Amino acid sequence: MKSITLTSVQTKGFVFLVGAGPGDPDLLTVKGYRVIQQADVVVYDRLVSAEILALASENAERIYVGKKLDYHCVPQEQINQILVDKALEGKRVVRLKGGDSFIFGRGGEELEALAEHGIRFEVVPGITAAAGATAYAGIPLTHRDHAQSVQFITGHIQKDGKEIEWASLAQANTTLVFYMGLKQSGYIAQKLLENGLDANMACAIIENGTRREQKVLRGALQDLPALAQQAVSPALIVVGSVTALHEKLKWFA
Ligand code: SAH
Repeated sequence: MKSITLTSVQTKGFVFLVGAGPGDPDLLTVKGYRVIQQADVVVYDRLVSAEILALASENAERIYVGKKLDYHCVPQEQINQILVDKALEGKRVVRLKGGDSFIFGRGGEELEALAEHGIRFEVVPGITAAAGATAYAGIPLTHRDHAQSVQFITGHIQKDGKEIEWASLAQANTTLVFYMGLKQSGYIAQKLLENGLDANMACAIIENGTRREQKVLRGALQDLPALAQQAVSPALIVVGSVTALHEKLKWFA
């Protein structure tokens, strides 16, 4: 492997925004691995695995700011403040988030706060749940015979107060991946059906994707709310004919 120079690793007063991946600790990037080992402070979320956290030095300060659905242990402004304060103290800070920090991870908001204080940062991408969980479920997000595009959508639809363009989502040749959608599964199914998606369109729920406890539930779009009743968080809802390929391509038991 080509050796990587991490100039900023030597730098104090710096924040690395690191995506930890969806669950399996081996899905952390090499760069993420290295910067975690060098951190003075690790500020981490609920979905970060214990194995990844254990990579940080014994002396590193670990600050949990975990978030649960509908409930933030630590308000976003306070998380921003912790990052700013620790960086201004001259620390090498790793802000560790599940999946990728820029996909429904509020990474942008945290970086804006850092930028406002003139704090330097680097972003280390992670494997987002949609990529990791579907890979481990044997569900290709695109496939020439099934889907020419893929869309990642937040399930916090009404909560965010912005309605989704359902008509543009309800297309047979696209794969839809809903994050944080379990509670809204009834609404999601209803809107897709109202906008013309076939009631028999295949869909899947992947819970605990890439972890040993991973479970894939499959059915038709009309059964989505019933499937969601049996699922636990964290889970993704995937709608599209690619999900049927799970039966043929599943490899992770
Ligand atoms: N930044 C993260 C997403 C955070 S939002 C990323 O890029 O993956 C949290 C949502 O992500 C959960 O509600 C769930 O929908 C999804 N998620 C995260 N980890 C998951 C996993 N291992 N399996 C299935 N879904 C997961």
